[in-house]
Amino acid sequence: MSEVDGLNRLQFADGADAHLIGGRPVTGNAGFEVIDPATGRAFALCPDASRADLDAAVAAARAAFPGWAARTYEDRRALIAALADRISAAADDLAPLLTREHGKPLAQARMELAVSGHHMKQLSALDLADEVLRDDERGKVELRWHPLGVVGAIAPWNFPIALAMHKVAQALYTGNTLILKPSPYTPLTTLAIGRLVADLLPPGVLNILAGGNDLGAWMTAHEGIDKISFTGSVATGKKVMASAAATLKRITLELGGNDATLVLEDADLDLAAAGVARSGFYNCGQICMAIKRVYVAEPVRDAFLGKLVEKVSALKVGPGSAGGMDMGPIQNGPQYEKVKAYLADALARPGAQVLTGGQVLPGEGYFIEPTVIAGLDETVPLVCEEQFGPVMPVLSFASEDEAVQRANDSRFGLGASVWSTDETRARAVAGQLMAGTVWINRHGLNESDVPFGGMKESGYGREHGVLGIRAYQELQVVSRPVG
Ligand code: NAD
Repeated sequence: MSEVDGLNRLQFADGADAHLIGGRPVTGNAGFEVIDPATGRAFALCPDASRADLDAAVAAARAAFPGWAARTYEDRRALIAALADRISAAADDLAPLLTREHGKPLAQARMELAVSGHHMKQLSALDLADEVLRDDERGKVELRWHPLGVVGAIAPWNFPIALAMHKVAQALYTGNTLILKPSPYTPLTTLAIGRLVADLLPPGVLNILAGGNDLGAWMTAHEGIDKISFTGSVATGKKVMASAAATLKRITLELGGNDATLVLEDADLDLAAAGVARSGFYNCGQICMAIKRVYVAEPVRDAFLGKLVEKVSALKVGPGSAGGMDMGPIQNGPQYEKVKAYLADALARPGAQVLTGGQVLPGEGYFIEPTVIAGLDETVPLVCEEQFGPVMPVLSFASEDEAVQRANDSRFGLGASVWSTDETRARAVAGQLMAGTVWINRHGLNESDVPFGGMKESGYGREHGVLGIRAYQELQVVSRPVG
């Protein structure tokens, strides 16, 4: 153990001291430190699951599966609604812990918790009824949807609760049981939620294990887990896919992005500037589907950038717990170093022009000013890689064809957007963009009843909506002759 603030020995955080296995809190011996990104110092310990803990969780989930799978959708919907209500009702109580471990402003932490409950209800309201494919002189053919068994859900740190709870709702509503692993950077609020909801579900239906990357790798290789729902980086997604191949697990991969936005010359520039600033800097730019590259038509470049810079330079940056902040620190040390390196490299390029920001803030914590940089091209890592932070490159284009070609010249394909007052033109451009979602005159809306996922290396499969949730089910065809 190490010192916290030079005074106390590190301890487990209140309500976040145990895994949830088979409906019971289980505290392991080992613990790892959780850092407050606003100070860069450890503030709590987190229990670290062992292989034996994983085996116990898998056994509990397998034992609970037949009973849970046999329930009706209505039954499961009611229990998920109870779970969602309890999380939403605890938003005020849990938000300080989420802010402490994540860094995001308190109001945004509260919002994440409340919205998670809302999305869980939306997901468990989807109509997943079996279908009759045909019933005619050739016989009757039905499509019936079965649960898969035990799902392993592996979550990242950028929206620790929302992204995890989407997986919980989708897996449980479809009749699967679940083992959820939060990111080691942000495990505590998830464990606290486990404590909070433990009595609502039959034991073993929802299990939560905190641990490091090894725990994730054990899950992807475990013979007792039937599907992995993974959200995280492209690099880890590839490891998950390779490891899951050994047991032919079903997988859904929600991975990184380098979303381009195209501001056409007929765009409403006020709307576009506000939307680009919001999408690019909310959550400190740490959103898979954040705008990470801006392409603006040359004739409106200066007018648009003036408006964008006005919005971005007005953002307030500071500790999430301080109140009134728009942006907190970068969530963790390695990500902070990565964003600083992208920034330093970009600043050193001939022609680079900082339009606002550009500074790493002095003092403790992982703070970087919201930054907009012009004068770069696609050879610069800040432009062609996923920066996942508050540093936005802006480029200009002479023709739409050129803009589309440059936007598509990427191994990523998560989201993209087009700003234009001409609906026909915007739809034509959208149709040429190789991205799982293309927004017109907005960017980054997350709705649980709409399928979401990436093309190319941004993912494999979809989550959300009926099309996404079907990935938590196995299709069975039942066929019989007439009469
Ligand atoms: P990450 O890949 O480092 O970690 C994600 C999770 O995987 C963590 O829980 C981690 O412990 C676990 N993990 C690490 N190694 C593993 C392994 N070998 N096997 C199994 N699990 C392993 O990602 P991150 O840094 O936590 O998250 C940021 C990334 O997530 C960004 O690239 C972002 O774009 C992406 N993301 C995508 C979406 C989406 O919906 N497409 C949403 C949010 C974040």
